[in-house]
Amino acid sequence: DVTATKGNEFEDYFLKRELLMGIFEAGFERPSPIQEESIPIALAGRDILARAKNGTGKTAAFVIPSLEKINLKKNNVQALLLVPTRELALQTAQVCKTLGKHMGVQVMVTTGGTTLKDDIMRLGETVHIIVGTPGRILDLAGKGVANFSECTTFVMDEADKLLSPEFTPIVEQLLTYFPKERQIMLYSATFPMIVKTFKDKHMIKPYEINLMDELTLRGVTQYYAFVEERQKVHCLNTLFSKLQINQSIIFCNSTNRVELLAKKITELGYSCFYSHAKMLQSHRNRVFHDFRNGVCRNLVCSDLLTRGIDIQAVNVVINFDFPKNAETYLHRIGRSGRFGHLGLAINLITYEDRFNLYKIEQELGTEIQAIPPVIDKRLY
Ligand code: ADP
Ligand code: MG
Repeated sequence: DVTATKGNEFEDYFLKRELLMGIFEAGFERPSPIQEESIPIALAGRDILARAKNGTGKTAAFVIPSLEKINLKKNNVQALLLVPTRELALQTAQVCKTLGKHMGVQVMVTTGGTTLKDDIMRLGETVHIIVGTPGRILDLAGKGVANFSECTTFVMDEADKLLSPEFTPIVEQLLTYFPKERQIMLYSATFPMIVKTFKDKHMIKPYEINLMDELTLRGVTQYYAFVEERQKVHCLNTLFSKLQINQSIIFCNSTNRVELLAKKITELGYSCFYSHAKMLQSHRNRVFHDFRNGVCRNLVCSDLLTRGIDIQAVNVVINFDFPKNAETYLHRIGRSGRFGHLGLAINLITYEDRFNLYKIEQELGTEIQAIPPVIDKRLY
């Protein structure tokens, strides 16, 4: 079940106190889904193959366990975080420094941009974690400047790029400098075949995480209102007047009802687009494009659109017609795990829908509350 969040807190991972302080100071309150999935597994020492969308917190998902596992009493390189570009190396090293701020962990970043001489000097001092791009790291390993013989954590971020034909030979060569007992963790948004080849060759029973399709109801406050069919438009009108809608999507269960409702909403004096399965694809695309660009505040549609919605400006979703099953419900109002975007879902429930409401609520393990007279603006 993709919606079941474990509800973990960072405190649940028994991290060092200093690391926890860094995490909270960075403003992270709770682990994101990819962090929830990978932190405990990474701490247990297993190889990991993790796939999650951009912007879902993959960096901290591997930086937190990497930091936790550092033995600060030792003065050797214990983790390598490999990334494809200089910019990403700098950014990732910064995350290490921020989260590890109170630990006394030594982080070094090296890319083609720094001079080799500086790197040699730097490696003369204590370095626990190296962040860098493949060419330079291999150079340092090959020259015996960087010693990876006790480096047991090997992370590849944007792994699909690091395993492109350009980099694969470098990565394979680099691995020969590592101890046999090492933990390999790959993070990426896409995993082409080439990653599978690498996995079969170098990884040991990796734990595979795939959150690409993850939709979550976290951050979405869900309400229901019992109405009679003939009161629905009136009810919608009330909602429009009471809520502070940035943009809204209103779902109907049939194409006919989409058009009828769009017409009624326009008559009520609210701007409104509509889209449904019987319209030409090109027309639908244009509507969606314009809606995304904020040309119009409200969109009435049937379920065809639901897979595509991740419009940050939409803060209210209304099920004018309640969906028949949990999956549809989730696709209509679930959001992909971005941070800080709250939303409201309001379900108009007729007598016939009641049973379905309870069923879907149960199935998704979520809570749909009776709509209060006043809805706190902070919720959306
Ligand atoms: P990805 O690598 O998956 O594209 P990033 O690791 O770059 O995503 O993270 C995206 C943003 O989310 C960053 O600004 C990061 O600081 C923030 N972030 C990561 N984890 C959390 C968290 N647990 N709570 C709040 N914000 C987070
Ligand atoms: Mg990333």
